Amino acid sequence: MKVHVIGAGLAGLAAACQLTEAGHQVVLFEAAKTAGGRARSHYDHQLGCRIDNGNHLLLSGNIATLSYLHRIGAKRSLTGPASPIFPFHDLRTGESWTLRLNQGSIPWWVFSPSRRVPGTRLHHYLGLLKLRKATQADLVAPLLASTGPLYTQLLELLAVSALNTSPQVAAAAALRSVFEETLELGGYATIPRYARVGLSETFVNPALDWLLHHGADIRLGERVTALTPTQATVLAVPPWAAAELVPGLVVPTEFESIYNLHFKYALPPGEAGFWGFLGGITEWVFAHSEVLSVTISAASRYVDFSPERIAAKVWGEIASAFALPPELPPHRVIWEKRATMLATPAQMARRPKTRTANPNLMLAGDWTDTGLPATIEGAIRSGNAAALALMATFKN
Ligand SMILES: Cc1cc2nc3c(=O)[nH]c(=O)nc-3n(C[C@H](O)[C@H](O)[C@H](O)COP(=O)(O)OP(=O)(O)OC[C@H]3O[C@@H](n4cnc5c(N)ncnc54)[C@H](O)[C@@H]3O)c2cc1C
Repeated sequence: MKVHVIGAGLAGLAAACQLTEAGHQVVLFEAAKTAGGRARSHYDHQLGCRIDNGNHLLLSGNIATLSYLHRIGAKRSLTGPASPIFPFHDLRTGESWTLRLNQGSIPWWVFSPSRRVPGTRLHHYLGLLKLRKATQADLVAPLLASTGPLYTQLLELLAVSALNTSPQVAAAAALRSVFEETLELGGYATIPRYARVGLSETFVNPALDWLLHHGADIRLGERVTALTPTQATVLAVPPWAAAELVPGLVVPTEFESIYNLHFKYALPPGEAGFWGFLGGITEWVFAHSEVLSVTISAASRYVDFSPERIAAKVWGEIASAFALPPELPPHRVIWEKRATMLATPAQMARRPKTRTANPNLMLAGDWTDTGLPATIEGAIRSGNAAALALMATFKN
């Protein structure tokens, strides 16, 4: 069967691979000249090296992503520590510490002061159980702030990173879905993973090669401006583009930005290759071979900062944490304005299902109702779901 997949972000690539593997003739349309959408790499002439549009962190519990990478032969292009560890620098106290989960499903690490978050006690962790009962209306901060130092030193940062939304307004149920598939299963599902060379090298180029090798027709630089109702189609474009192509479709309408800063500075990667930062504006720092890359989520709060001001502030924080020279190295600041949908209860309620009123048309994308926040795992899962739903209609 001939199938059109529109959009070659990770949702579209996952759908295209699933359909191709099942023997269907896929035509993949992508408006941009390169595939990857919001997860891509490029050569930066100012820095003289390749950089990603932003750090992307996965966890070993992201099983749809791992099986996508396995399918396209790129699983080994991920890297990260061998065990579930998360090093942190607290700019407020100057302290460095490492969260060390144990691998198994029983979280005995919470009993060990040298493994858990400094200053926390068992009852703080029990406060996490409130997430299990979170309603669709509950917000992260009001629900979890009573976990005290666990919140201020870990949960707040995890929530803003996973949901790309201020915890004051973010849906607690969205955070629960992340924890259910990672932390709650145990350390073995919480091992950090990220692209060794770059996002394109891990998630995009191997998929394009795999698709070409298996006979798919890939059309980069071809924007689809209208749908053919009788053509079997997976629509894997951002929500605003989907709403233009499918009149009357209800989609999320509010978005959050992410700041990404790349400093040309080679720092030894330490135990994990990255660090979480607390008490400043820096959130995650990744030590790549030629650059230190920084991510700041829910970045609309810094909309008034100029790129130079934010670069100076972030470098000041990194330099103080690692005792580096204060002079700002060559750098690139990337502002992803609509990085993800806003994960508020109201916006989460606007996520559409895979199926549409037209049985030939399925939706995919991290903004569809995947049960997860807008992440790689959600995007890939949505692409798989759209492909399977479409194939189910072929049998009827
Ligand atoms: C800076 C940043 C950091 C992030 N960090 C993380 C992280 O740490 N962990 C994590 O899991 N996730 C992270 N994410 C989220 C992750 O990148 C996204 O969830 C995922 O890439 C979304 O994929 P998608 O296919 O749903 O959408 P997109 O990537 O937006 O793909 C949609 C594609 O459709 C194309 N398109 C649009 N209109 C048309 C048209 N009319 N015709 C043809 N093509 C069209 C677009 O060009 C685009 O390529 C981050 C995102 C950003 C921006």
